[in-house]
Amino acid sequence: MKFSPKVNRPDFPLNWTATERMPKIAWKTGTSYGRKDAWSIGYNKNYTVGVWTGNFSGTGVADLSGANVATPLLFKIFNTIDYDSNEEWFTQPPDCDIRTVCSETGLVPSAQCSSLVTDYFIPLISSTKACDNRQEIMLNPDEKLSYCKSCVPATGYKKKWFKIVQPDMQAWYEENRVAYEKIPPHNPECELIFKGAAPAISFPLNGTEYIINKKAPEPLQLICKTANDVTKVYWYINNKFYKSCNAGEKQFFVPVEGPVKISCTDDKGRNRDIRIIVKYVDL
Ligand SMILES: [Zn+2]
Ligand SMILES: [Zn+2]
Repeated sequence: MKFSPKVNRPDFPLNWTATERMPKIAWKTGTSYGRKDAWSIGYNKNYTVGVWTGNFSGTGVADLSGANVATPLLFKIFNTIDYDSNEEWFTQPPDCDIRTVCSETGLVPSAQCSSLVTDYFIPLISSTKACDNRQEIMLNPDEKLSYCKSCVPATGYKKKWFKIVQPDMQAWYEENRVAYEKIPPHNPECELIFKGAAPAISFPLNGTEYIINKKAPEPLQLICKTANDVTKVYWYINNKFYKSCNAGEKQFFVPVEGPVKISCTDDKGRNRDIRIIVKYVDL
């Protein structure tokens, strides 16, 4: 099959006039936040080519995009180095197979997954984890509280399916005003699981004043200790999502002046808040 200019892709360069001799390639583009740089990476059986465009200073350029700046260069390079090549393409390896997966997670579908697509996988190598994107949550009758197995009352509760949205995705939804169904807050009377096991923030120190050099602000470290059932933690600065990372991994941030609230939530939803005061001075 020859490379076709009719190919229906949003990242196809608008100003590209296809030539008959363009070799067949597979490619992918990317443009960074703030249009600081743009990439296009392509390959075929003979070559792999990566094109990076941008300012070395990191200054953004309004017209910079992977599709319209980097990809035409990629095509030109392929047209030059692999001009009129044979059209041999990759064949599916015998140990690669096709299966149905959940379109939301790419995992093996469970009974609750409503949108399914087919995808490649390698039997005995690819993950066989079932999609747990939807979970049945126990709620009180007016759906204002959620329960876990330890705190659910013997009677008078109901069950409802929820799509599980991770805190970093929640923060993105909130910022972009995307509606999603929130799991009601956990029963505040639940003592068994939630008390005491929230992350402990060991740095910065709660209630401490930090002096920062105005001319060369040094970032502060964020360190927490978590229960051993935790893999990920989510940091919030002044109630705004900041970063997610693996439990035990250090993070850094440059605080604003004044009172700063720092919160750390673990992947079980347990949260700890601390407060510090930040002063900027000429040192
Ligand atoms: Zn699913
Ligand atoms: Zn509970």
